[in-house]
Amino acid sequence: MVAQVIDGKAFAAKVRAQVADQVAKLKEENGITPGLAVVLVGEDPASQVYVRSKGKQTVEVGMNSYEHKLDVDTSEDDLLALIDKLNNDPAVHGILVQLPLPKHLNEDLVINSIDPAKDVDGFHISNVGLLGTGQKSMVPCTPLGCLMMLRDHHGSLSGMDAVVIGRSNIVGKPMAQLLLGDSCTVTIAHSRTKDLPDVVRRADIVVAAVGRPEMVPGDWIKEGATVIDVGINRIERDGKNKLVGDVDYASAAERAGAITPVPGGVGPMTIACLLANTLTACCRANSLPEPEGLTA
Ligand code: NDP
Repeated sequence: MVAQVIDGKAFAAKVRAQVADQVAKLKEENGITPGLAVVLVGEDPASQVYVRSKGKQTVEVGMNSYEHKLDVDTSEDDLLALIDKLNNDPAVHGILVQLPLPKHLNEDLVINSIDPAKDVDGFHISNVGLLGTGQKSMVPCTPLGCLMMLRDHHGSLSGMDAVVIGRSNIVGKPMAQLLLGDSCTVTIAHSRTKDLPDVVRRADIVVAAVGRPEMVPGDWIKEGATVIDVGINRIERDGKNKLVGDVDYASAAERAGAITPVPGGVGPMTIACLLANTLTACCRANSLPEPEGLTA
């Protein structure tokens, strides 16, 4: 079997177009422009690239982008004061604090100081609890992107066996909750899982979120399974820098029914879902109907 490639780049462009349409409607019919505030503390090069990209795409879909760049030695009090200001600013519907934060800042404290209704990353403890209890929440962007691609490919996921490899708070755990919400039978695997190959071989859906280059070989994949590769790993091969996922793409594509490539799979969906979450937050703040197909 040769797997169908799930094109995350094209899918993300479709999501952004849907968001842009809805934003245009909001402006025209309600005079409202959704706004996303992104806070970056310090000068981590990767974070700077992400923040630039987020700002650019926010403006491209017609939303307002507010960037707050703070010195690396910004105090916790000053950061919390800025978040408080953004929480109370009606023009700001989404707030994202770029992680990781410098070591002297308490990430949990900072994230939990964001108004949960504006927490477009879905990391606030209230949103974690709402998702875990199947209630309306803000859903973390990367797992939301994976869910959208799975729903698009399969229609219903009900009754499917899903394995999520990785149990982080930002990918693995929320991914498992979302799959459970769509009535999959979910296994969460991690570094202590016994006989991981056997666990993966039983799955109709495999989501790999580990951070280990090409750790999952093709012979772990059940014939016809759908493989969503969240991993982004920079490696050097044949003297060149290369991005690879957590799945060995070449061998997995020979057995899977469908697979996301790296790059061009899950990656582009993350910012698209951030924009979708900002639109959702804006609609909720204004008691307007939520955009269809852009939430969990
Ligand atoms: P974390 O490092 O927080 O979590 C990794 C998880 O993998 C842990 O739960 C760990 O288990 C598990 N793990 C590690 N080694 C093994 C192993 N040998 N067998 C089974 N499980 C193992 O990573 P993240 O969740 O933050 O990210 C995972 C990957 O996804 C990374 O490559 C990251 O770059 C990428 N990513 C991509 C995004 C995108 O936009 N596409 C967004 C976010 C992340 P344990 O808990 O037992 O230690």
